[in-house]
Amino acid sequence: MTARIVILGGGITGLAAAFAIKERSEADGLAVRCTVLEASPQWGGKIETHREAGFILEGGPDSLLARKPAGLQLIRRLGLEAEVVPMDPGAHRTWIVRGGKLVPMPHGTSMGIPVDIPAFLRNQLISARGKARALMDLCLPAPGRAEPEANDEALGALLRRRFGDEMVDWLFEPLLAGIYAGAIDELSLLATFPQLARYETEHGSLIRGAAAERQRQLRDVPAAAAHPASGRSAFVTLRSGLRTLVERLYDVLYEWADLQPGTRAQSLVRAADGSYRIRTERGEIVADAVLVTTPAGAAAPLLSALTPTAQRLARIRYVSTATVALAYPADQVRLPAHGSGFLVPRAEGAYISACTFVSSKWPHTTPAGYVVLRCYVGRAGQEEGLADSDAAMVRRVREDLERLLGVTAWPWFHRVVRWPHAMPQYAVGHRRLVAEVEQDLARTAPGVFLAGGGYHGVGIPDCIAAGERAAQAILSHLAA
Ligand code: FAD
Repeated sequence: MTARIVILGGGITGLAAAFAIKERSEADGLAVRCTVLEASPQWGGKIETHREAGFILEGGPDSLLARKPAGLQLIRRLGLEAEVVPMDPGAHRTWIVRGGKLVPMPHGTSMGIPVDIPAFLRNQLISARGKARALMDLCLPAPGRAEPEANDEALGALLRRRFGDEMVDWLFEPLLAGIYAGAIDELSLLATFPQLARYETEHGSLIRGAAAERQRQLRDVPAAAAHPASGRSAFVTLRSGLRTLVERLYDVLYEWADLQPGTRAQSLVRAADGSYRIRTERGEIVADAVLVTTPAGAAAPLLSALTPTAQRLARIRYVSTATVALAYPADQVRLPAHGSGFLVPRAEGAYISACTFVSSKWPHTTPAGYVVLRCYVGRAGQEEGLADSDAAMVRRVREDLERLLGVTAWPWFHRVVRWPHAMPQYAVGHRRLVAEVEQDLARTAPGVFLAGGGYHGVGIPDCIAAGERAAQAILSHLAA
């Protein structure tokens, strides 16, 4: 009998899950009919690449972390390894804005944690008093964490306790919370950087924990050997933009799966015979297993007919952001040498939260003779700028670039991409909330699974890994 699998959402999680189901069912000779429903006319969700006049402009993600294996492994399985481009090694400097000036990111740190103390002490970002407070991490007592899941806390709470406020407000917040467009005092430690909790418990100090981790990484197989395509770069992208990943997934799935763009799942219920019925504006689809990869706001009403606990998913808050790309003739902009960009701590009160020197970091994306900058607008607690029109947004971004970089030129063109309610905020207790919903689903709706950026990690490799785990769980469920 042919097993019917329906995946809701055609972002990277849903597409990677469909591909994993294809690979495994073909290898094992399983008869499967897989349908993917995507509400929008476009596949790929937040992966959005615009290619024009030789420019490759990412509206959403611009790279993936090479260290997390699921991303590069999928790229390899799709035959895209030759397309991988590491970040330009020449663009190795990053700055943090303090007092309206670009100050170099402290050397000798790992995720902001000092691992080379002499190098860290030379930084100009943190005051002498702030540095002294940071080093107290080495001697402060460390509380045990008997039941880690029951003892989640804010990422900011741990870092303030260990390193003091100055390090948090000027280094950790832009560096770590920035990834989530989040607020460091609200984000969950265990759902964002659980290794920090481990460093405190196992080493009694984050500095000692991070230094031990750095030693371990140097000892183990270097990332470059594991993934030759990544070179030594921590981040990689694809030559024609990350959308290539979505396009290749679409190509390999096109004939095998029933891909339905422009089809929103409206409801999901369990029928008396144990199958699931998904209602869309085009009719009803019957499934033996369902994978929900939509953002939490869409997943909560779909799943709450199966388990009331799922309503809790609606508590996962999403922050709105926008990216503004600006292209300039190269002779009109002088960027600091060897730079990849800068971060803006929220205490600076600027309009932008970060700026990437796209043409320096990823030279292949920009024709010769141009410079491309990409700025981020909006983060938790600072979303009011998103109410601006595109023209006002570009004007205010340019004001920041003039003040911070001295760029006064008119851009040759600009591109604003808005991301309403796009960045999930993993609040304290996030992992427990998701685990409870998943446990209830397993009990009341066997064969229904949840995966995606809203639940198990926001990075593209996290989403791919979550989609692949769910694919495996579905096939195991169907085989049982
Ligand atoms: P989505 O991409 O949100 O896909 C979910 C899909 O579900 C959507 O296409 C949606 O239309 C569809 N859907 C919703 N409701 C329904 C319904 N009822 N029925 C059917 N379909 C539905 N990550 C990185 O690794 N590196 C980066 O550099 C990076 N930068 C980022 C920059 C920005 C501006 C943003 C917004 C994100 C960035 N991320 C980055 C995060 C990463 O892009 C996302 O976490 C990831 O793409 C999410 O994939 P997903 O498939 O889980 O969800």
